[in-house]
Amino acid sequence: MSEKPKNFPLPLSSVMGTSQPKRLTDSDYRLREIAPQTAVRNIAQNRGAQKPGTEPALRPKATPLPQLPVASKNQPAPIRGAIAMAEKIAAQGVKDPMVLGALATVPRHLFVESGLSQQAYVDTSLPIGHQQTISRPYTVARMIEAVRVDAGGKKLASVLEIGTGCGYQAAVLSQVADMVYSIERIRALHELAKNNLRQLRIPNLRLHYGDGMLGLPQVAPFDAIVIAAAGLEVPEALFLQLAVGGYMIAPIGNEKQTLQLTKRTGERQWQSVMLEDCHFVPLRQGII
Ligand code: SAH
Repeated sequence: MSEKPKNFPLPLSSVMGTSQPKRLTDSDYRLREIAPQTAVRNIAQNRGAQKPGTEPALRPKATPLPQLPVASKNQPAPIRGAIAMAEKIAAQGVKDPMVLGALATVPRHLFVESGLSQQAYVDTSLPIGHQQTISRPYTVARMIEAVRVDAGGKKLASVLEIGTGCGYQAAVLSQVADMVYSIERIRALHELAKNNLRQLRIPNLRLHYGDGMLGLPQVAPFDAIVIAAAGLEVPEALFLQLAVGGYMIAPIGNEKQTLQLTKRTGERQWQSVMLEDCHFVPLRQGII
């Protein structure tokens, strides 16, 4: 590729400026610490106002909260399940209200096999066929929160997901971005995702059947790229399709994997940090 940045391939040391990747701290996220349950309840109840004596739920620059149902016994179980799951994920440290709001509303039971629907709102990955899995909701939330670190409560403009799988994460992403593109290399899963998503009628989501390692140059650059399958390194094309100022998150590794967050800091500059351990199916070349 003629535009190949001179610091490719990109071992972490070459993009960090230091030899050791740094762990992200809460202050790197620049999101105000709030009681997690408060965050989700505020979202669920569409309440911007704080109760006397409690912390404000959001920083001033955050966008208005999405209109979500309040969890109640009268609601269908899936909605209650999704809200309860989002609360648990908030308790594990995810703070981005837009991400928590999306988790509390996307009907995950529509994305799992009917025999597993009892487990749809358990925070775990589940098989979706073809030796692939629907990601663990906590990991979905963590990855999306990480690429939204500079979003300031607003939606991202354009996001690329590699590895549509059953389509769940794509549906979550569609609530935090104006436009989402998602690529899947297994045709049967691409079709499955299309079916799963059809009933949700998400206007700002485009599914592509293809090799995500090549990205989608025709609609690049992206504000964020979320890679849902693990490789030993991020494919070069994806670095180049990230907008300057944008973030990409990818599980890196084989048996032992870690989430790597990369920011494109300039035309020919990228910086990466390692976040936390994770477990993903492998990123593979080509289509089947
Ligand atoms: N995003 C899913 C998780 C999908 S699992 C969710 O919502 O839970 C990872 C998916 O990545 C698998 O479906 C796998 O087939 C796909 N994948 C692996 N390598 C790929 C590649 N090069 N391009 C596109 N998809 C790929």
